[in-house]
Amino acid sequence: MDEEIPVDVGLIYEGERIRKSSMYVDLAGPKSKGAELLRVVPPEEVEDGKVEVIGPDVDQMEEGGRYPLGIYIKVAGEKLEEDLEGVFERKLHYFCNYVQGFMHLNSRDIIWCRISKDAAKKGLKLYHIGKALVKLYKTEFDVIEKIQVTFYTDEKAVDEHIARARKVYEKRDARAAALKDEDVDVFYSCLLCQSFAPTHVCAITPSRSGGCGAVTWFEGRAAVKVDPSGPIQEIPKGEVIDPVKGEFSGINEYVREKSNGSIERVYLHSIFDYPHTSCGCFEAIAFYIPEVDGIGIVHRDFHGVTPFGIPFSTMAGQVGGGVQSQGFLGISIAYLRSPKFLQADGGWQRIVWMPSQLKERVRDAIPQEMYDKIATESDAQDLESLKEWLKQKGHPVVERLAEEEKAEEEAEEESQPVATVPELTLPAQGVPVAGAPAEFTIIFKNAKIYAEKVIIRRK
Ligand code: SF4
Ligand code: ZN
Repeated sequence: MDEEIPVDVGLIYEGERIRKSSMYVDLAGPKSKGAELLRVVPPEEVEDGKVEVIGPDVDQMEEGGRYPLGIYIKVAGEKLEEDLEGVFERKLHYFCNYVQGFMHLNSRDIIWCRISKDAAKKGLKLYHIGKALVKLYKTEFDVIEKIQVTFYTDEKAVDEHIARARKVYEKRDARAAALKDEDVDVFYSCLLCQSFAPTHVCAITPSRSGGCGAVTWFEGRAAVKVDPSGPIQEIPKGEVIDPVKGEFSGINEYVREKSNGSIERVYLHSIFDYPHTSCGCFEAIAFYIPEVDGIGIVHRDFHGVTPFGIPFSTMAGQVGGGVQSQGFLGISIAYLRSPKFLQADGGWQRIVWMPSQLKERVRDAIPQEMYDKIATESDAQDLESLKEWLKQKGHPVVERLAEEEKAEEEAEEESQPVATVPELTLPAQGVPVAGAPAEFTIIFKNAKIYAEKVIIRRK
């Protein structure tokens, strides 16, 4: 692509995975930190084509090392609007993966990148990746007139960048949260993840952003304006079939078509019956825990195990791929802030477990009376301790459980015998018993008699 870049750049490298054994360095990721951010700024704030690396570049990094990473892209253009930031930012994942020997996973402040040994040997540096990004963005989006890329690997600079990025993510999410599904006539779809989850269609509405967290309704609207035939398209809302579950005829029809008929119906706000499909890059998973009739949430950054005894990664492997999984749902962190968050299942009243880090992060979205009733990894590590905790705290699901237990007891009571007799003799004419003689008597000892109805007749 560019003589300056010592490796190939192209779509064919998109699916390339860099395993630990072939990795030169690990950047950001679960054991370090990082964030990516793309901003639309006035033209005078962008030096077109400039790429900067603040901190050591790959040639100054130790083989096998782990470093924090910040990616900051500034773009300018007459037709650009702030609402496009999320969509362009999401593209970073795809463009980075075009670079041979460079792997980019996830989005926002959970990115995780690697450079392969082969690429490092050829001399690939972050600087080159920046140059490739400049070209790719400008080629794909005519509306981007100027672009500047900065990488941070210096720890302090990365920290500052993460703080800046989080403020922007929050602002974007808050803007989206102020609008509701009923306020608009058109929704958006995103088909970007069909490249690896062919039946996955993200339905993006004001009350539900895409699973990766990068595409909100506003961003969907802006994307359609600049790239009408791109992966983000309009979905006419159609009829409201169920406002609580979030079922719309427009979404059903669209998803049916774009999933080649494999998905018939979608509930936007429930993890039961027809939950939204999950691709693989969701920020968190909501999962049903039948033992307590509650819902847990686990996010990608949490490395411990859920009360099921499995970590996020194992659960993600079972949930993703573009299918509807009963009781499991890939979601964005922003969706936790949605006023319609799993409203058909009871919303926050039904949430029983989440990692402490996530609970703290969305503290403001959790109803005050629920905050202390939701267990974290330090309160409950398995189903037994979770049950105990919920009972102690008087969580709403416990009342439901108690009601269910009572109903079961009542059902048992209903089938109490109407009479118990020490011995009961029945003449057995007409009662067919295999192997018995033609005339015989049946004697029941300690017989319990169950009957639908008892009629007592005076002789
Ligand atoms: Fe698009 Fe959804 Fe994939 Fe995000 S998770 S890139 S919104 S399809
Ligand atoms: Zn995805």
